[in-house]
Amino acid sequence: MIPYGKQDISQQDIEAVIEVLQSDFLTQGPNVPAFENALTSNVGAKHALAMNSATSALHAACLALGLGKGDRLWTTPVTFVASANAGLYCGAKIDFVDIDPETYNMCPKQLEKKLIEAQLKGTLPKVLVPVHLCGQSCDMRAIQHLCMEYDVKIIEDASHAIGGSYLGGPIGNCAYSDITVFSFHPVKIVTTGEGGAALTNDDQLAEKMALYRGHGITRDQNMMTEPSHGSWYYQQIELGYNYRMTDIQAALGISQMHRLSEFVSKRHQIALRYNVLLEGLPVEVPFQLDDTYSGLHLYVIRLKLDDIQRSHKHIFEGLREKGIGVNVHYIPVHLQPHYSAMGFQLGDFPESEKYYSEAISLPMYPNLSEDDQDRVIEVLTSLLVSK
Ligand SMILES: *Cc1c(COP(=O)(O)O)cnc(C)c1O
Repeated sequence: MIPYGKQDISQQDIEAVIEVLQSDFLTQGPNVPAFENALTSNVGAKHALAMNSATSALHAACLALGLGKGDRLWTTPVTFVASANAGLYCGAKIDFVDIDPETYNMCPKQLEKKLIEAQLKGTLPKVLVPVHLCGQSCDMRAIQHLCMEYDVKIIEDASHAIGGSYLGGPIGNCAYSDITVFSFHPVKIVTTGEGGAALTNDDQLAEKMALYRGHGITRDQNMMTEPSHGSWYYQQIELGYNYRMTDIQAALGISQMHRLSEFVSKRHQIALRYNVLLEGLPVEVPFQLDDTYSGLHLYVIRLKLDDIQRSHKHIFEGLREKGIGVNVHYIPVHLQPHYSAMGFQLGDFPESEKYYSEAISLPMYPNLSEDDQDRVIEVLTSLLVSK
């Protein structure tokens, strides 16, 4: 099976991990801060907090922004469930903003409409989570402009987007948000096995996220309620979690970061080749916005179902049967039973639902060979043109 995504592990990556295994610290050692430095120096944010997943980083980010019971978090329906679940963990209510039919990212016009309505009803969100789907940045300038007007905090879910840029600046620099989150799951652009990070330029948010990552425990005398009892002393001042990344993971991450630009440029080569090979077929290829450079986590095509004799499901299953490990990103979150139980239903976000009925993610990873890519096109072509 040709998978839809796959990590690229070098001998150097392996040696970096072995070195940690032979060292004194498997966790809470020097590699985690070194990985955080690699992240901040790469994307230009002031602080990075490495965690055991992007899901944890999203949760810690929501907590640091003060999201709680009675508050609201808005995100896009076309995302992994974690973007919304982070709000539920905090006791917040979730709502969604429909996507732009060209970029598949959160639509700023829909956002504006929804904010105007919410202000009238007194249901404005505290936190907005735009997701850079497939690695292409959302229209952050428009989104930030609206969020400033309505006093909404922004967490960029950049799980797909490390290595990309927007208006000349790296995604992750938090120029248009309070916090940006990356994922280092093996299908993403760089990996630590499991892992994630939250980046921010705000000292206080960084301090709070560090607290939530580590049980709510501090060793900083300035944050304590009474003088230290001695050098062993610490205080738990909040309810936090164990969201730490290990040094084993961080060492892999440091090593992988050396190849970030190589990974992303290989993804771009593959995408350009797909664009050419798919010409003339009844599919929509990804739309490339001016002034953005995508991390290209995913290469999503949309079937022009009016021009095809077969269903979306038939094409998808046909690819799988022939060993092409395609996938669908994503089943709209509002249609998941856990969310429809809150009152969401089919028809609520029509552009997201239409996208879902047509989208297929083709294999996309740095080591995808030209032969394998040709095989994907060959199978897809035979399915699309068969009567
Ligand atoms: C992968 C992903 C996550 C969750 O990442 P983990 O590191 O697996 O927790 C969150 N949001 C999006 C958009 C993702 O693709």
